[in-house]
Amino acid sequence: MGSLIDALRAALGPGAVLTGADARGRPASAREATGCAALAVVLPRSTAEVARVLSLCHAAGHPVVPRAGMTGLVGGTVTGPGEIALSLERLSAIEGLDATTGTLTVGAGATIQSVQQHAAEHGLLFALDLGSRGSATVGGAIATNAGGNKVIRYGMMRDLVLGVEAVLADGTLVSSMNAMLKNNTGLDLKQLFIGTEGTLGIVTRAVLRLHPLPRARHTALAALPGFDAMTGFLQAMRAESNGTLSSFEAMWPAYYALATRLATQPAGRPRPPLPHGAPFYVLVEWEGADPDGDAGRFATALERALGRGLLLDAVVARSEAERAALWAIRDEVSEHLRPLGPRTAFDVSLPIPAMPGYVDGLARTVAARWPEGAVVAFGHLGDGNLHVIVATGAPVDGAEDGRAAADLVYRPLAALGGSVSAEHGIGLDRKAYLPLSRSAAERRVMALVKRALDPADTLNPGKVLDTAAALDPAS
Ligand SMILES: Cc1cc2nc3c(=O)[nH]c(=O)nc-3n(C[C@H](O)[C@H](O)[C@H](O)COP(=O)(O)OP(=O)(O)OC[C@H]3O[C@@H](n4cnc5c(N)ncnc54)[C@H](O)[C@@H]3O)c2cc1C
Repeated sequence: MGSLIDALRAALGPGAVLTGADARGRPASAREATGCAALAVVLPRSTAEVARVLSLCHAAGHPVVPRAGMTGLVGGTVTGPGEIALSLERLSAIEGLDATTGTLTVGAGATIQSVQQHAAEHGLLFALDLGSRGSATVGGAIATNAGGNKVIRYGMMRDLVLGVEAVLADGTLVSSMNAMLKNNTGLDLKQLFIGTEGTLGIVTRAVLRLHPLPRARHTALAALPGFDAMTGFLQAMRAESNGTLSSFEAMWPAYYALATRLATQPAGRPRPPLPHGAPFYVLVEWEGADPDGDAGRFATALERALGRGLLLDAVVARSEAERAALWAIRDEVSEHLRPLGPRTAFDVSLPIPAMPGYVDGLARTVAARWPEGAVVAFGHLGDGNLHVIVATGAPVDGAEDGRAAADLVYRPLAALGGSVSAEHGIGLDRKAYLPLSRSAAERRVMALVKRALDPADTLNPGKVLDTAAALDPAS
């Protein structure tokens, strides 16, 4: 093994190959700031160096696990003791913005926030937005096909990427840095690397799609009398927003109560902004280019919804500070959920009409298993995406409880046509549940693609799918 480490050091120079305590000082996961178990953490500075690392590791038959912002929530960056962790953090260059085409070329290690800021300085918007924006990177967001708060308007990361440069397991560079909206010249190769969690290639650069920077945002928090009213309100907002509806964040009452308990409210604000006790709450936002016109339409749309009985009450943000306070109710999830104690978080998709029955059914099965337990739900309703938290009360066995909770959350989804992962991916944590959402034929095609691009299974091995099992006709 020493010879591989020596070869990597010779290729990358001093300070780029961390071993021993230096490697262990690196994060093990999104939740563990240290404790990386990798044989070495490798920090290349360029695409050429990434290609060199992969070529050396491939020749040695050595597994490589890509990592970047380390905010992923499904164990996709977990690195075993014999594996090499390859961090993209030094490939963070923001290379060039083309205002005419509305594109930005960046290194995979650039953070989402740095990209948003750069675009905004040029009057443009990079529309992916998520709570981890300060650490999560472009490469990580591509690898996980990240979603976030504005998917209803701008789509997921897949919709915001025009071109990708990636390195395959054997070190082959595939540059597919297309910058055009239309390009029907055979297979769209970037799709191989979007949402495949570093199992088919390592993303090193990308061409991102930008949108006009909104000139005004209109934000309100509403209380609703029931789920049908919430879907009616969603339809009304879609119809009346003139295409500017950018967020529609639903909160079940248990989430709202936790998020607006007194301890989390900033001093000086009315607390909570709307009283507890409504059946549902929604944070709704429009992003438009006509500040005065949009403000009038937004107010009218809310008044109409009140008039139709879709809303019980609503508060509108009158300043950026008020908007930030409303968004804090939805964004600062970990802080809000702390009083729940031991809990497991899930991120599922299902048809919108099936949501209330699914959440109520889950609450019953959780109560039967853990009488002190609770189910807390919230999510991007317009995208069919629910975040579900299962709290167990007092833990008997954390790992066992986590598995039992996953069974209760995931098993009903197959019959509903739902998905065990909406936006976080599969990684290691959800691998066992992939068959609930993807058929044997689908898994086999995934495995065939993996075999074709990484026959030795050295790139993020064991994540997403068990290739051999998926190819086994008996499985
Ligand atoms: C507070 C918080 C809020 C979040 N909110 C959201 C949200 O709203 N929506 C959402 O979708 N996610 C959310 N996430 C999850 C996470 O931020 C995203 O999955 C993000 O895209 C991960 O980016 P990263 O750079 O941290 O990647 P990592 O965590 O470092 O890696 C994630 C996966 O991508 C692979 N990978 C990383 N870089 C590359 C690369 N360059 N090439 C190939 N593979 C690579 C890794 O092997 C791993 O499988 C949230 C996480 C936190 C902690």
